[in-house]
Order: sequence, then C-alpha cells, then structure tokens
Amino acid sequence: MTYAIGLTGGIGSGKTTVANLFAAHGVPIIDTDAIAHGITAPGGAAMAPIRAAFGAEFVAPDGALDRARMRELVFHDAEAKGRLEAITHPLIRTECDRAAAAARGPYLMYVVPLLVESGQWRARVQRILVVDCAEETQIARVMARNQFTREQVLAIMAHQAGRSERQAVADDLIDNNIDATPLVTQVDQLHVRYLQLAGEALPSPEGPENDRRHSP
Ligand code: ATP
Repeated sequence: MTYAIGLTGGIGSGKTTVANLFAAHGVPIIDTDAIAHGITAPGGAAMAPIRAAFGAEFVAPDGALDRARMRELVFHDAEAKGRLEAITHPLIRTECDRAAAAARGPYLMYVVPLLVESGQWRARVQRILVVDCAEETQIARVMARNQFTREQVLAIMAHQAGRSERQAVADDLIDNNIDATPLVTQVDQLHVRYLQLAGEALPSPEGPENDRRHSP
C-alpha cells in the first residue's frame, strides 16, 4: 500500500495552491472534487443511478448532472443529500483506489475538501494535512476569486466543518494566513518529512530480517 496524505481545508483555504506545490515535487495528486465532477459528467458512472433516484429533471440536456438544481435540493434537504452521497461516495472511493493503484511516486496525496465532514477518510490515509487560515482571509480570497458576495461565501462555510474542527484532526498544518511563512517553504519542509515517513513505512525489499533502517 502506498503511503497516503489526505489534504483538506475549508473553501478558499488554499488546498489547490498547496497541492500544486507538492505536485511540483513529483507527488501524485488525486483530486476527489475532479473525480466527483467526472462521475457526474455526461456518461459518468453516477448518472444512471442519479437519474433513477432523482428523476430526469436532475439531468442536463447534455447528460451531465444539473449541478445548480441538485445543489439547490441538497442544500436544504439532508435526506436527499444522503441519497446522493450513497450513490456518489462508493463510486468516488472506487475511482480513488484505481487512481492510487496507477500512481507512481514516493507517496501520494488525496485532496479531499470535506475530509473532516465525511468521516471515512481517517482510515484511508496515514496523515491528515490541513491548510489553515483565518475565516476572514478565506472569505476575502473566495470573494475575489469567484466574485461571490460575503453572504454567499458564509452560506457555503456554514455547511462545512469549522476551523477548530479541522485543526483538531490535523496531523500536520500548513499556515496560509497573510503573514505566514511562504507556502513553498512550508511545503518543502513537509515534503522532506513525508519522504522520511513513507520510507520508514515501506517494508525492506529483502524482508524484515534484513531491514537495518531501525538498527541502532
Ligand atoms: P476551494 O475549496 O474553493 O477549491 P482551495 O482551498 O483549493 O479552494 P485555492 O483555490 O488554492 O483554495 O485558493 C483560494 C484563492 O486564494 C485562490 O484565488 C488563490 O490564488 C488564493 N490564495 C491561496 N493562497 C494564497 C496566498 N498565500 N496568498 C495569496 N493568495 C492566495
């Protein structure tokens, strides 16, 4: 099994920015948002079950998920959200496993925006890395990036875990506040640490009796 890091953080915290810096070190990145998008694209594996469970009105003319309509439904309807996730989560897990099996690198990194909320990721990764910044910084960055109003950003954040909940599950933390050490420096340091941890976690090629890495 490959040594795996789960990268998470609230909306606009800097997950993509951080993941790109790890990718520059040759770390394979598996983006669960991109996978979720793929399975709900035209012909995606989730589309037939979604049509069956929710009706054709949730399928756009091109065969993709009508994202705006589904977002509107699940934002206010926890039961519908559960039904949707019962379809998508197993498919996302399968696709993650396939991508992980194909990945080549010293360790790999899953980007999981809702890692804390979904609960199933703790057992799937060796370490949880949280990108952290003040909520005001998140709000300002998402308003600038998406041209959202403050209220729109707050509404999304209200559906996500809070900053302290994420900090509580973090094995490692990247500080992405405005006055923080540059991200590239923090990522370089963590990469060295992860290379070391991944190396220690790998079995010796000759078997444990020849493994001298832990000898005095
Ligand atoms: P989402 O959850 O919405 O996918 P994210 O966590 O992946 O967001 P990014 O897209 O990496 O976050 O960053 C959000 C925005 O903030 C982007 O426009 C990014 O360029 C900007 N940003 C991130 N980190 C910094 C930083 N240290 N300094 C300035 N801008 C930053």
